[in-house]
Amino acid sequence: MDYDKRIEAVDAAISLAEARAGQRSARTRLIAVSKARVAADVRAAYEAGQRDFGENYLKEALAKMTALSDLDIVWHFIGAIQSNKTRDIARRFQWIHTVDRARIASRLDAAAERPLDVCVQVNVDAEPRKAGVAPSNLAALVAHIRELPRLRLRGLMAIPRADGDHRASFGTLRSLFDAHANAAGDHWDSLSMGMSDDFEIAIEEGATMVRIGTAIFGPRPTPARERVLA
Ligand SMILES: *Cc1c(COP(=O)(O)O)cnc(C)c1O
Repeated sequence: MDYDKRIEAVDAAISLAEARAGQRSARTRLIAVSKARVAADVRAAYEAGQRDFGENYLKEALAKMTALSDLDIVWHFIGAIQSNKTRDIARRFQWIHTVDRARIASRLDAAAERPLDVCVQVNVDAEPRKAGVAPSNLAALVAHIRELPRLRLRGLMAIPRADGDHRASFGTLRSLFDAHANAAGDHWDSLSMGMSDDFEIAIEEGATMVRIGTAIFGPRPTPARERVLA
């Protein structure tokens, strides 16, 4: 697979979306979502210049990290966090995008050996059984995380409802980001939103990090996305 060309194409689309959003300089961080990809594919994308990679499943990620330990990859955890996995997640990932409850935040803080960059996942469309804190509980969670010394609270993350109006969902997340800025502290600078199908809209609505799998690596061999979004 020609990762140079694919990453270049995504970068170009990001730049155009940034221009439409009225941004003069590049600000969007591209996270290549490598779930269900083998280590060799991650290495090839790295050799094409990609440095940030996102993983959803701890066990799968740890195997790849071992195989790729010679590379200076920045690993992002973007999956559901089970409480018995917090120790390894805190120690092996630099960014965690999916913190959605106080207990998990406290466990990550207790296990961390260095400052961790975290985003709070918000259930922006109030979907039943979906991960993410409800907007009405966000202020309490923000206040809780700010008390945790090893967590740097960077911003918010969301996955819009699949069949919904993604632009509206991103706009909601952006509004929540602005509304909580005063309470959130000095590190509050990140909006993790947008995937292969909607990252341009997300950037127009203020995304600073987009999480892209398919547009870089091609269709996934296993239906990981369905598992994640279920
Ligand atoms: C799988 C996944 C992505 C990437 O999805 P694509 O449609 O392949 O770009 C982004 N974010 C999360 C949370 C995911 O689980």
